[in-house]
Amino acid sequence: MEDVPLPRPLLSGPARTADLEARLPSAVLGLLARLEGAGCDAFVVGGSVRDLLLGREPLDWDLTTDADPDRLSALFPGSRYENRYGTVTVTVAGTEYEVTTYRTERGYHDHRRPAQVAFGVTLGEDLARRDVTVNAMAFGRTAADAAADGRRVLVDPHGGRADLASGTIRAVGDPDARFGEDALRMLRAVRLAAVLGFAIDPATRAAIERRAGDVRLLSGTRVGAEIERLLLARVPSVGLRLLADTGLLAAAIPELAAQPGIPQAKIDGDDLWEHSLRTVDAAAAIRPGGAEDPEPARQAALVARAAALLHDVGKPATFSDGRFLHHDVVGAPVAAAILGRLAFPRGVHERVERLVRHHMFSYEPTWSDAAVRRFIRRVGEDLLDDLLDLRAADDVGSGLPADGPRTAELRRRCREQLDAHVPLGRGDLVVDGDDVASALGIGPGPRLGRVLDRLTDRVVDDPGLNERDTLLALARAIERNLEDR
Ligand code: ATP
Ligand code: MG
Repeated sequence: MEDVPLPRPLLSGPARTADLEARLPSAVLGLLARLEGAGCDAFVVGGSVRDLLLGREPLDWDLTTDADPDRLSALFPGSRYENRYGTVTVTVAGTEYEVTTYRTERGYHDHRRPAQVAFGVTLGEDLARRDVTVNAMAFGRTAADAAADGRRVLVDPHGGRADLASGTIRAVGDPDARFGEDALRMLRAVRLAAVLGFAIDPATRAAIERRAGDVRLLSGTRVGAEIERLLLARVPSVGLRLLADTGLLAAAIPELAAQPGIPQAKIDGDDLWEHSLRTVDAAAAIRPGGAEDPEPARQAALVARAAALLHDVGKPATFSDGRFLHHDVVGAPVAAAILGRLAFPRGVHERVERLVRHHMFSYEPTWSDAAVRRFIRRVGEDLLDDLLDLRAADDVGSGLPADGPRTAELRRRCREQLDAHVPLGRGDLVVDGDDVASALGIGPGPRLGRVLDRLTDRVVDDPGLNERDTLLALARAIERNLEDR
């Protein structure tokens, strides 16, 4: 993707219609015009307006209108209406746009979802139900405006534009009440502050501190979606620190809340939590590429960031006499459980579990080539690059250079072994399980598995053994030895 210069933010002076309109894609202008032509109110709303004003590319475009969902379905043939929140999804040239009928929400019972959604309300009421002021603006016109002078306007009843200009995240209305309705708004406030580089208004922050515990009532999926986005921010420690300092971390990931205060002899004055934060900041962000499907790059970055955040999650529980014995073994299943609970993509938590499990290797230049091969076999070839990247981040988190000479040397030596196509696993042996089974006259089962494992160990140590007759003879010897036990 080319780097297109961003338009300047539109945060001061009168919000000129022409400036905002010039930033709307033609598909959005087309949707607005269609609604207006049918005599309906038509506004771009929420995060899209926030990003337009900031000069950022909106992730998605949301529109709002007084037309009810049935009317919308009729106005946009081929659109989908499949939820009770009044959202109709219209697809234009492969992109989806959400058009939502003005609504309010009532009867929150469990701090997370409204019991009722009411239509037939005004734009003002719709904006008042939104989470933070910078997300509670709309740009467009009502049917009545259209009849008067036809100009689209910025509707900003909660001072969102001023808060954008000063870099402030502020709840719409009474923060305690709004967070009481839906505890997710607290995580959204922190995530937005972190991603936009904004500060949280003191009254809003105080309400978060009072109500942080309610986050325990949210589904792991909703919490996880916010944590994912926070981890993928350019500097994830900003949001993570805010989570910890407001008490949200203790509710969302209690396993990490034990880290502050655990001593760590790496960087003067840093405790374990500071080490985790430095490590996660040092882990790779999303690497550009794969523009067609951004998901693999996103998941790769999530693996790197989540592994960095969680690599020492086993330390508080194992801390004794200034040491953290087996914190890798203890931490790996804890990391997997956290990411499973937060509904991270399955591939991500499995990889992170293995990374945490293996992160404590200590390479020495005296390792033989066979030792390098055993290391590759133990870790798994598919995990190698990520593990060395984690070590690089861990080193930065410990005040050392990223690819120190040791890590760089191990990287090079692993590469050498891989390039030489030497046997590294059972699948690389020139005999398979059937060959060995029939040579030994035994069937499949744990006994055969043990023989194959030891055979593989021997070949990884000495690739010269990987020859059919040698291996079958070796297999017989190994099996006889098993019998002696
Ligand atoms: P982005 O799309 O960049 O993540 P966004 O603010 O557009 O940010 P969405 O999840 O797309 O986030 O939500 C669209 C709009 O819906 C928000 O801008 C906000 O006005 C409103 N909104 C979303 N979630 C909530 C919530 N939990 N409580 C109140 N309003 C919300
Ligand atoms: Mg959005």
